[in-house]
Amino acid sequence: MKQDIKSMTREEIAQCLRDMGEPAFRAGQVFSWLHRGVRSFDEMTNISKALRERLTETFELYAPQVARKQVSAKDGTIKYLWRLSDGHCVESVLMRYHHGNTVCISSEVGCAMGCAFCASTKGGLVRRLRPSEMLDQVLFTQIDSGVPVSNIVLMGIGEPLDNYEAVRKFLTLVNCPEGMNIGMRHISLSTCGKVDGIDRLAEENLQLTLSISLHAPDDAVRTSIMPINRRYDVEELIKACRRYYEKTGRRISFEYAMIDGVNDTPQMAALLIRRLKGLPSHVNLIPLNRIEESPLKPSTRQAVMAFQKALEDAGITATVRRTLGSDIDASCGQLRKKYEKTNGTNS
Ligand code: SAH
Repeated sequence: MKQDIKSMTREEIAQCLRDMGEPAFRAGQVFSWLHRGVRSFDEMTNISKALRERLTETFELYAPQVARKQVSAKDGTIKYLWRLSDGHCVESVLMRYHHGNTVCISSEVGCAMGCAFCASTKGGLVRRLRPSEMLDQVLFTQIDSGVPVSNIVLMGIGEPLDNYEAVRKFLTLVNCPEGMNIGMRHISLSTCGKVDGIDRLAEENLQLTLSISLHAPDDAVRTSIMPINRRYDVEELIKACRRYYEKTGRRISFEYAMIDGVNDTPQMAALLIRRLKGLPSHVNLIPLNRIEESPLKPSTRQAVMAFQKALEDAGITATVRRTLGSDIDASCGQLRKKYEKTNGTNS
């Protein structure tokens, strides 16, 4: 099988080119062409035809196709459904914030985590993405939209820490000064709470923002909506967050989807406050997005406001997330699911 060149680091490409008898500067040329989104080696016009042919024979180079594109009339949010080389599809969302244009990318096709409220996991995990397939989502979102991307969130389909090696390599690629050059401080990684992965990431001491999908401070409630809680309970998870903070000095971000009558009571707010004591954190309250496959409903506005006030009164920064792209199925997994249904594919 041919090697996927876009999943290779600059150093790995340099090594291969050296083995092919090429001068050192070629690696930089090839790497920067790849990270400008060429669709074939023939577009690398400062490289000889002979070498372009050899590269074509040696390596695989693929660019995703736009299977669907939806632009929000309300706020300019753009949702892409990308068709990958094997026909499977994943989603990315481009959001315009004041602090920069952010693309939310997927790390897997489907997801194995089984959270009760999430559309991405309903068909299980199909496969994990390669580094190049994550990079392409950022690259081609920027190319297709013409909007320069400054921030990345790994909050689309999939569990990034379930695809650790590929995600780690993607971070190296997208961070490379000769590529997209997106700084770690402009990247967030969201996990449902895989403690082993959190510890591994802490060891790398990257300056990215770790985002934890907590959704409940109580084990019984959290286990009922998030199966991962059986493996790593809330206490273990928060302890891992403390270790992450001690190692990296980075404030932890907690995602909390507000679900009517499930996790939005004053008792839950009080328990959450106790759990987060002494840990620099930011809680993001997200009114649940209803999905067809689940009876869970979003909390009332009053419940969300009261919950936020309780946290703020206890000195915890809590924001209520603005919903972007609600007219275009912009939340995770919704577009892919619809596309599958109407096209009868197993993508
Ligand atoms: N697997 C990772 C990455 C997915 S990120 C994780 O769990 O963090 C997507 C975020 O959206 C997570 O916080 C997830 O819990 C949340 N989410 C999924 N479905 C949702 C829904 N219907 N309403 C609100 N938030 C949802």
